[in-house]
Amino acid sequence: MTVAPLSRSARTYVAGHRGLVGGAVLRHLLAEGFSDVVTRTSGELDLRDAAAVEHFFEVQRPATVVLAAAKVGGILANSTYPADFLSDNIRIQVNVLDAAARHGTTKLLFLGSSCIYPKFAEQPIREDSLLTGLLEPTNDAYAIAKIAGVLHVQALRRQHGLHFISAMPTNLYGPGDNFSPEGSHVLPGLIRRFEAARLAGDPTVTVWGTGTPRREFLHVDDLARACVHLLEHYDDGAPINIGVGQDLPIAELAQLVADTVGYTGQLVFDTSKPDGTPRKLLDMGKIHDLGWRAEIGLAEGLAATVDWYREQLAAGTVRAA
Ligand code: GDP
Repeated sequence: MTVAPLSRSARTYVAGHRGLVGGAVLRHLLAEGFSDVVTRTSGELDLRDAAAVEHFFEVQRPATVVLAAAKVGGILANSTYPADFLSDNIRIQVNVLDAAARHGTTKLLFLGSSCIYPKFAEQPIREDSLLTGLLEPTNDAYAIAKIAGVLHVQALRRQHGLHFISAMPTNLYGPGDNFSPEGSHVLPGLIRRFEAARLAGDPTVTVWGTGTPRREFLHVDDLARACVHLLEHYDDGAPINIGVGQDLPIAELAQLVADTVGYTGQLVFDTSKPDGTPRKLLDMGKIHDLGWRAEIGLAEGLAATVDWYREQLAAGTVRAA
């Protein structure tokens, strides 16, 4: 394994810096003194466009790349638009990984998702359960795209000896998240719904599914720290999990969101909505052994995210999609 500190002055490209993950990675890199960080909005550089990506890498030649650009969404968006999730993500990955390999990128982190693991993987989910069972159908198209990315990273390492790595974060949340009613993941979706109900004085709030599935939530600022830590301490083709090592049922999460927002009405469960996978708690053994741990507890991170959301509401800048 080649593990070494990243050069703070080397050119570093964050793909997807307007998203939840890329935004947090960018903030962290700047706070850590990285002095040559390159970003492009999707309007400036459409990562699905192979020729444009090739040209960008030819000119910019970033030494380090964090590939946090992806088409992402919650359970409803994933089950409604599987073709878009598969096609956009595969194209983004193939274009960025191949161009980075051709134009001198020495370190690259590809970010996947815990949904790549089998639906009924043994819990907590170890990295070596990848490709040992069937996927959760509500997000299988997205998962297959991300699995292709993991194998692409491994193939580039084998064929070209590149120090590219893949990490699989658990469910993420924090400032910069997508709070749209249809496209969001559960945590921002519930913040939005409970805050709206509190303001309107609604007696009930609907929570999707049975409330029994369990999920693990990692604050995106913790993830950003993990990304730099892995680029400096991990150099292997096997994916590595990033999470907190603890989960809770959706019903408990919903009550925590209600309490944090200050909503005092009733919770109603809409069982016509899908539950998705019953549980996906990630095993943290590997990343803990490398000296990284999550630091932001859910209550603390949730309170900060609610504050952030209220600031955005007041400023009229909540991301709608
Ligand atoms: P998943 O982790 O890929 O299943 O994605 P989500 O974060 O979208 O959903 C997690 C769980 O929360 C699922 O069981 C959903 O049915 C449930 N859930 C409850 N309320 C909501 C909501 O308002 N939005 C979303 N996206 N999920 C919700």
